[in-house]
Amino acid sequence: MSTGAPVLRFAPSPNGRLHLGHAYSALLNADLARRMGGLCRLRIEDIDPVRSKPELVEAIVADLAWLGLTFPEPVRHQSQHMDAYRAVLDGLIDRGLAYPCFCSRGQIRAQAAALEGHPHDPDGAPLYPGTCRRLDPARVAGRLAGNAPHTWRLDMEAALRIAGDRLGYTAFDEAGTRWVQAAPARWGDAVIARRAVPTSYHLAVVHDDAQEGITHVVRGQDLEAATDLHVLLQHLLDFPVPRYRHHRLILDPGGEKLAKSRASQSLADLRQAGVTPEQIRARLGFG
Ligand code: GLU
Repeated sequence: MSTGAPVLRFAPSPNGRLHLGHAYSALLNADLARRMGGLCRLRIEDIDPVRSKPELVEAIVADLAWLGLTFPEPVRHQSQHMDAYRAVLDGLIDRGLAYPCFCSRGQIRAQAAALEGHPHDPDGAPLYPGTCRRLDPARVAGRLAGNAPHTWRLDMEAALRIAGDRLGYTAFDEAGTRWVQAAPARWGDAVIARRAVPTSYHLAVVHDDAQEGITHVVRGQDLEAATDLHVLLQHLLDFPVPRYRHHRLILDPGGEKLAKSRASQSLADLRQAGVTPEQIRARLGFG
């Protein structure tokens, strides 16, 4: 039940140890929640059955506790809600807003390379050229019945026919709020369910933000462009649109974005090297 108080969340994916960038995001969420008189939830975004590891979930909780952050129960684990995502996906399929795609990544790259000046999405991947969008329905049914590997893609054109072109969201920061016009078309027919699971990050995150009553989404600038797609999905699914804040990314001394694969940057390693939580807070600007 909504109490009217702000609800924020920190939503890491357990496919590596937390680094300083995660610490910044978690501390900022907790700090804003406290200052707004709301609460900050922890959500484990473990939809990837290969990369998500239970021991990493435990490590995340331990690292956050070491930083001084604890979260209200229950902690949501996305892997436990696949039926809910399936239902949302089925709804989009039934409405003609999603279609199965049998192309591999390599095929898509090759298809795009063959088209001169083919556009890329904000993450740098070639836009899906629509190869599977108009496949013969009987052939599609046969391939699905035969369990041919496939993803599900949003039919962007059909989605925009419903949503129109006036989509947007309210962004907030210390200076105030501003309206941001969303441009979801730049994602093309985005993948909304991956091969092994009935969802993708985009579908699961908008579902869970709605389900958990999240009023303010605070996350890194690297996800700012994805918000355009999220706003579109929220419109299609009749979910409320939270306010968004996309914070700066913490860079390594060489000016590079911290990558989870760089073990030297993990909080665990910093801890082992004798760095204290107070020093981390101070370094990140939370005195
Ligand atoms: N799970 C995502 C990540 O670890 C963050 C999702 C979000 O905050 O919307 O990058």
